[in-house]
Amino acid sequence: MTSKQPEVLSSPAFCVYPWTQLATTVSGKIRLCCHSLLLTDPRGKVVQVGREAPIESAWNGEAMKAVRRTMLSGTLPGPCSRCIRQEKQGVVSRRLNTLRSRPRWAEDIEERIRATSADGSLSAAPSSYDLRLGNTCNLRCVMCRPQLSTSWVQPGASLLKSEKIPTSARQHLQYPGPNGPSEQKWYANSDLVTYLIENASSIRQLYFAGGEPLLAQEHWRLLEELVGQGAAPEIDLSYDTNGTQITPETLKLWENFRSLDLRLSMDGIGEKLEYIREGSSFAGMQRLMNLLGDWPYPRAEVRLLVTIQIFNALDLIEILDWYWSFAWTRARPNNVSIVWSFLEWPKCLSVGILPPEAKAIILKRVDEALGRISSAESDEFKMLSLKNLAAKLKYIFTLWAEEPTPVGEFVGYADALDHISGRRWREIFPELRNLVE
Ligand code: SF4
Repeated sequence: MTSKQPEVLSSPAFCVYPWTQLATTVSGKIRLCCHSLLLTDPRGKVVQVGREAPIESAWNGEAMKAVRRTMLSGTLPGPCSRCIRQEKQGVVSRRLNTLRSRPRWAEDIEERIRATSADGSLSAAPSSYDLRLGNTCNLRCVMCRPQLSTSWVQPGASLLKSEKIPTSARQHLQYPGPNGPSEQKWYANSDLVTYLIENASSIRQLYFAGGEPLLAQEHWRLLEELVGQGAAPEIDLSYDTNGTQITPETLKLWENFRSLDLRLSMDGIGEKLEYIREGSSFAGMQRLMNLLGDWPYPRAEVRLLVTIQIFNALDLIEILDWYWSFAWTRARPNNVSIVWSFLEWPKCLSVGILPPEAKAIILKRVDEALGRISSAESDEFKMLSLKNLAAKLKYIFTLWAEEPTPVGEFVGYADALDHISGRRWREIFPELRNLVE
């Protein structure tokens, strides 16, 4: 038992994640949280779970024990460089945010600190899991890459043979080296599911992303086992998903859990969605929204995740209007919202490289939409969403300002994408074409 007591909670070097969460990348590498660098052992080898490396070897391995000891001795470890940098700049870091909000899965943190041995090991299993279930994905979104979608592995290799694609896109598509696997299935080859089932009573939160996490059979087996064991009512579920695999049966299974936080990717209307998220169906997305609207389960939060990029930047208001056209989104604004995310990389798809004229049109559309909003109470959430969008756009338009990039790089990449998919971006995005050519 360590001599350190829970007063360490107020130390500027303490963070709850190494005591509560196991976080992986799509290839099963371990990090402390989604903001940290990869965890490395004392020999500098990246910690990974898989066939030869069970979950416990990461949770109580030399690297994780060293992180806990380092924090308890008053220093933030190297993998936390992002929080260290942010706090020096006076920004509220993820570390501070989580400590202050004290999520449900960190409620027993004092107990966990007391139970930490002098060598940094912890007998309690994680209470929260951030699991990236490989890169298996049925879609090939224009902004994605082989690391995150198996549907990109072959096209990515073909694109790399083209001399015309911009350097930034070339780096984006590199994967995974000549002898690497195309599909990352660490979760199927490790003891992950067995470990989680054996430690089900400790679990308070499961977050799944990918790839497309709902394509992983092990994920379904895990949920069914957790329901069978009676552990589900204590577990909050959270997903980043493309939504294509959600059926009425999925919703029935989710209802057994304490709550659900669903982040659904949604990047355009009609054929624009089907172009940006190749392999998806706009009709399917409409059906899904209706299915979710009819779902009586009260503990679900649905967030539409819009990734702002050159292909959809002129259509953001159209997406917002589509979202508000569903009666249930207006009726339940506390349970459903739009998250405006933005694409930084590859640079050739980032709105930061758009010409000033295009940026002005995009901002004007948001301003006009704000002007159209009535003072009716039901529009309050729409107003907030638009204000949030306006603020975000002003920031993301400055991206890459230090490294000016001709918008021709976008045109070159879009042409290369069309070359391998047989589609025609100029016909689907005529307004954009006029602004960038
Ligand atoms: S200090 Fe920051 S980077 Fe490190 S584990 Fe905590 S939140 Fe993650």
